[in-house]
Amino acid sequence: MKNLISQRANLIDASGIRKVFALAENLKDPVNFSIGQPDFDVPDELKNKAIAAIKAGANKYSQTAGDSELVGKIAGRMKTEFGWDEPAVIVTSGVSGGLQLLFMAVINPGDEVIIPDPYFVIYKHMVNMLGGKCVFVNSYSNFELPVEGIKRAINDRTKMIIVNSPCNPTGVVYSAESLKELADIAAKKNAIILSDEIYEKFCYEQGGCCPSIAKYSEYVVLLRGFGKSYAMTGWRIGYAATSGKLKAVIDTMAKIQQYTFVCAPTPFQKAAIAAMDYDVSELVASYRRKRDLLCERLKSKFEFVLPGGAFYLFVKAPGGSGTEFVEKAIDNNVLVIPGKVFSEKDTHFRVSYATSDEKIEQGAEILLGLL
Ligand code: PMP
Repeated sequence: MKNLISQRANLIDASGIRKVFALAENLKDPVNFSIGQPDFDVPDELKNKAIAAIKAGANKYSQTAGDSELVGKIAGRMKTEFGWDEPAVIVTSGVSGGLQLLFMAVINPGDEVIIPDPYFVIYKHMVNMLGGKCVFVNSYSNFELPVEGIKRAINDRTKMIIVNSPCNPTGVVYSAESLKELADIAAKKNAIILSDEIYEKFCYEQGGCCPSIAKYSEYVVLLRGFGKSYAMTGWRIGYAATSGKLKAVIDTMAKIQQYTFVCAPTPFQKAAIAAMDYDVSELVASYRRKRDLLCERLKSKFEFVLPGGAFYLFVKAPGGSGTEFVEKAIDNNVLVIPGKVFSEKDTHFRVSYATSDEKIEQGAEILLGLL
């Protein structure tokens, strides 16, 4: 019998997060600290925009690069935020869609991609699937941007450096100084910087405004999304933007979009136009309180870095093995994700506090009881 599955597909593993979901199937009303999305719903005003767009007939394909009003609005924001003269923009099917298009547009077999470890899961698997080489740079245990390690790892084969701030799974927000330094290092080797800023709105320090490396380099591909910020993860809307210097990258992503996603969902692009002006500061403030509540409860017995953003806490596993601790937690009705899903190490576990205050209290109590 012929092997029906491609060698490429065999290079990747099933998602470790999905494996935890499967383990949890038989649990009754568990404390779910595994979810990577907000627990609030899409604000009514934005739901109504999507409904109105559908009723008004915005149900056909949009342009490949996206609805022109939305593209124009994003480009305008890039100009004011980063001073880019002629930004290039493509609207994508979530940030995942943007990641796929970007990697397909730039990675050749053998190209090296520098990834601070721990990292968001998709990067490793996409790079491997395309025959690229992941070069992990350790950021344990303070989880700051590992600038020195990146300096040592970069070489002429480095095609891209990935920056994800606020970071999934650590919640750490990188400092402006470290981002500036990295921009200089990348420029010397002509490497593209991928800045995944999907959690940009969830920033609890620095006046609520996360520094972006796009301020310090014109060789950044910026990926941002609407899913986490407005709780519309199922609407599948994100975007990629660059300065005019990397227009060819966005054009290539658009060419690949023609044969893959075709376009991002049209009515939700219309709602995204309104989302860009929607103020989520109160919701973000409530997430900051959730962070404080969880950290306050856990700090006497667990080791972690206070996260400045996103909605995750990356906690050192008592006993040393993330997997063993997670199995114990799941046996006690609390779902958390082993650190090895996001890392080459298995020493931590990730807690998502995107849940109710009651569940945070209940979950913290159970975790403390496991020691
Ligand atoms: N990047 C990071 C860092 C993420 O955490 C996620 C979602 N968990 C994504 C990208 C993908 O987001 P989307 O749902 O917009 O595809």
